Amino acid sequence: MFHEALSSAGNDLSATLAAEDAHYAVNRMEDQSLRMEADIERLLLLSEALWNILKEQHGYKDDELVRRVLEVDSRDGRIDGRVAHRPPEDCPHCDRPVPNGRRYCLYCGQPVPVNLFAR
Ligand SMILES: [Zn+2]
Repeated sequence: MFHEALSSAGNDLSATLAAEDAHYAVNRMEDQSLRMEADIERLLLLSEALWNILKEQHGYKDDELVRRVLEVDSRDGRIDGRVAHRPPEDCPHCDRPVPNGRRYCLYCGQPVPVNLFAR
């Protein structure tokens, strides 16, 4: 009887700890989601400002800008509203592939051109 009561209390404690862990995990995900929404809003604002600068100061028309967006979108053969992942480019010094986002070649250590749009 005592053993059953002790076991039951242990199960209750485990369930309580699991519920707290789940609660904290949900809170972290909500925080991450809010930060991502804020990032998207900021990117939309920047994109619209740049779009307007291109039109007002450089004479581009909406049709031309839309065509350019579709051109970038279709690089992977699909117009799906997503930027295609690019394969790693080769190091200009040793011709070995350099993973996207690296500033220096892993093989020869030389600086490599940074592709700001690599993903
Ligand atoms: Zn290299």
